[in-house]
Amino acid sequence: MAKFHSIAIDGPAGAGKSTIAKRLAKELNFVYVDTGAIYRTVAYFLDLLGISPKDVDGVERYIDELTIEIEYDENGTQHMIMNGMDVSGEIRTQDISQKASLVSAHAVVREMLLDMQRDVAKKHNVIMDGRDIGTVVLPKADVKIFLTADPAVRAQRRYEELIAKGQKAQLPTILKEIEQRDYQDTHRPIAPLKQAKDAVKVDTSALDIEGVVSAIKQIVAEKLGL
Ligand code: C5P
Repeated sequence: MAKFHSIAIDGPAGAGKSTIAKRLAKELNFVYVDTGAIYRTVAYFLDLLGISPKDVDGVERYIDELTIEIEYDENGTQHMIMNGMDVSGEIRTQDISQKASLVSAHAVVREMLLDMQRDVAKKHNVIMDGRDIGTVVLPKADVKIFLTADPAVRAQRRYEELIAKGQKAQLPTILKEIEQRDYQDTHRPIAPLKQAKDAVKVDTSALDIEGVVSAIKQIVAEKLGL
């Protein structure tokens, strides 16, 4: 059986995981899997039904009615299909970010998504980003990176991103939301955000995108011999 390579990039919100992973995937010709988008899709589905992300019974009752497919267009861009509907745009709000963080703490949700993520890695060379890729989803990944940055730097980047998109944003609010998400993601009992023992930590606080890409390319080249 063909053995596919996998690169796991974990870290808190706004550390630059998706930007870096997308760039790297293109250069290496790997499939990029944004696992946060899958949790966001679950959160969006429950939100449409009016189920609170903290409602254990509600989540357990309705989760079976959700089917999620991950599709890629000709540019390699990931699309999230929720019960047959493309919701890739709808899941990108601050509200859904917070709800995804709460929804992702439920065992039933994490179990449902585990095989889906592993299946992609069984069939393709992947760069997968998330919170528990190196620790839980792909514990045998060839390369594990833990990408992090100061909360203030992450908030500033997020703020600039939103402003560039023409959206309204307030820096103190974004910082508060980032800190809240960090707390929730690192303190949940199942698959919390943490650095895998064999992951290489890259602090992006003082680096620009090119700096991060080149640091990570070097790590990947050493580990995979590419
Ligand atoms: O990466 P993104 O910000 O889109 O993720 C949204 C939320 O999904 C995170 O705050 C986290 O709670 C959850 N998540 C997770 N495990 C992953 C990826 C995301 O719990 N592998």
